[in-house]
Amino acid sequence: QHAAQSLLVGTGTEVPLVQGGSTDYVNLDYAASAPALREVAEHVAALLPLYSSIHRGAGYLSQVCTEVYEAARTTVAAFVGARADDVVIFTRNTTDSLNLLARSVPGDTVVLDIEHHANFLPWLGTGGGRTVVAEPTVGATLAALEAELRRTTAALVAVTGASNVTGESLPLRRVAEIAHRHGARLAVDGAQLLPHRRVDLAATGIDYLAVSGHKLYAPYGAGALIGRRDWLDAAEPHLAGGGAVRAVTVDGATWTDSPARHEAGSPNLIGAAALAKACQVLGALPEAQQEAREAALLQRLRTGLAELGIEPLRIWGQEDDETGGAAGETEDTVAIVTFTVPGWTAEEVATYLSAEHGIGVRDGRFCAHPLLRRLTGAATAIRASVGLDTDERAIDRLLGALAALLTDGPRWTYATADGAVVP
Ligand code: PMP
Repeated sequence: QHAAQSLLVGTGTEVPLVQGGSTDYVNLDYAASAPALREVAEHVAALLPLYSSIHRGAGYLSQVCTEVYEAARTTVAAFVGARADDVVIFTRNTTDSLNLLARSVPGDTVVLDIEHHANFLPWLGTGGGRTVVAEPTVGATLAALEAELRRTTAALVAVTGASNVTGESLPLRRVAEIAHRHGARLAVDGAQLLPHRRVDLAATGIDYLAVSGHKLYAPYGAGALIGRRDWLDAAEPHLAGGGAVRAVTVDGATWTDSPARHEAGSPNLIGAAALAKACQVLGALPEAQQEAREAALLQRLRTGLAELGIEPLRIWGQEDDETGGAAGETEDTVAIVTFTVPGWTAEEVATYLSAEHGIGVRDGRFCAHPLLRRLTGAATAIRASVGLDTDERAIDRLLGALAALLTDGPRWTYATADGAVVP
């Protein structure tokens, strides 16, 4: 555990409490964004003196930066098990990656109604999005997906790698098989899966993967779309501008191939290098150990919540051995838990946890309005999510604070409309 904690910048932060004094901060909001890895911060600091233009200069610094940028591509590709002919396009984040892909798909895209808006709205925007309503079990959901693909031709299936609301994950190998059987490709929104699980595109059959650096322990501003080249090379450039062209005349341009085709403008060298360094560090962590540690924390949180009478939100029920567990694939859940507390709004709970206990969680509808509407009706909810430096103490602090809320109520009254706190 200490080894994991020393991986991160900014652990051990003291935060003020509303009743006075301060406490060490408990960050349980890794699903929103994760603090930088120490090695990432050091890598960024080492790059700053070398800062120069990429792909555009013959000078030494320019050559070094170009080399670093292109090496970052190779590192990201290796981290996700990309096929030799896959392309890595650096983007701003997962949202950007999925918007780029949505404009490159030569046909309809089938999505589930459980998605983060980043993997929902881009497809609606293209006019080619078809939504399948998730069923109460994984097996029935896969069957519904297949029925939709059988009903009419689609070019792509786009699913989340792990739900940002419940942490639940479809068996991606099975989804890929289903998509491919019907002539469609599979895109995975990896924003929540990649921080918790290794993904291997070649082995799983995922055709496109979208990721965000800031959820992978790198800074904001860089993400990637990794996947098959042909659609991306046939698509209009994501942005028109320098670097994306082969030749320009006063009448128009001929565009170059991916990845440069979709990376017009001066690239985000620091972002790409930081993302790659994070991939390198995460890739070297002991995978089984990390998964086991997070599974134990998840179990501790779930058990503690159950003892308080709080049931986490779930998309799928347990009974699913007919189809969900085939081909070595089982339903999986990463360490994200979302719940409501009877008698209190999510805003009140989140404000109480922060102000009185120094615990950071997320409250709201998590950019997944269709899913939240289904799981809670109109209500917002509270999300706790685990990261590399989360320990049992953090989980127990949250459980203790919730127990105190349920028995004693908050010491203060929280007026949520304007965020004001009154005694
Ligand atoms: N998909 C999922 C599942 C997410 O959780 C998020 C971030 N909350 C996104 C996509 C969007 O990521 P970003 O804001 O970095 O584009």
